[in-house]
Amino acid sequence: MGECVFCDIASGKKDALILYSDEFIISIMDHRPINKGHVLVTPKKHYRDIFEVPADILCKATEVTRRVSIAINSTYHPMGLNIIENNGTDAGQTVFHFHIHLIPRYDSKYNTELAKVAWHRKVISPEELKKTRDEILKNMNIP
Ligand SMILES: [Zn+2]
Repeated sequence: MGECVFCDIASGKKDALILYSDEFIISIMDHRPINKGHVLVTPKKHYRDIFEVPADILCKATEVTRRVSIAINSTYHPMGLNIIENNGTDAGQTVFHFHIHLIPRYDSKYNTELAKVAWHRKVISPEELKKTRDEILKNMNIP
């Protein structure tokens, strides 16, 4: 894959602080954490994003995410914990190897900050909401 930092970490070519590792999944400390205890969970094999990662690998990653979340919570007792996964540049993805962020929150002001930055909710009609549901429904028959 050439220049992929997570492939290099998974193969041991690049150092990282490993929290968990098995045949399929690795969990490491984010080297530029948003907060204390910011951890990443990623498949060892290269998948670009949610559109590429197979369901069984996603399930394994989710199990590790749960396990690490509980450990972070028991260690630091944060006020909250975000689990975030970005797909595509426009969604904030910067490393194009599927990975899940676990970000503990220690400041109750974060909720209002998040509302300002990323959660501009819209008021739409029930008809528009149903139309959107129906459009997505047409593509739900995915294995
Ligand atoms: Zn990779």
